[in-house]
Amino acid sequence: MRLALIAHDEKKPDIIEFARNRRAELERFDLMATGTTGKRLQESTGLDIERKQSGPFGGDMQIGAEIADETCDGVIFLRDPLTAQPHEPDITALLRICDVHAIPLATNLASADAVLDELVRTLDAGASGPRDSQD
Ligand code: PGA
Repeated sequence: MRLALIAHDEKKPDIIEFARNRRAELERFDLMATGTTGKRLQESTGLDIERKQSGPFGGDMQIGAEIADETCDGVIFLRDPLTAQPHEPDITALLRICDVHAIPLATNLASADAVLDELVRTLDAGASGPRDSQD
């Protein structure tokens, strides 16, 4: 199962803490991340993470393209709701494509735990991803 991790700058400490707390579970996934998030997570946790472009340079769109290709099973995207982002259209597109393909999406720490719990449950049940149970 393939999981995308993204955090806006103000939320990077949160995603690092999340990844440290849930490292054992995250290790079970094929992980990808936007550029800076991925770099910071690799440095702080040692997790193996495929890094896309940085968000403002197209990383969110690259993750969106994977969702459209049905190669991504979940997204944890810790957004900063209090700061305007230059790539807001890309962010909106990513959220939309998650909804189009019914991909589990968490946009804050509380829902990140819930989404990861559910994806781990799916892994334990032996399915290759949430799409398995939908088709
Ligand atoms: P970053 O991108 O991980 O490269 O900082 C995240 C974003 O701003 O969408």
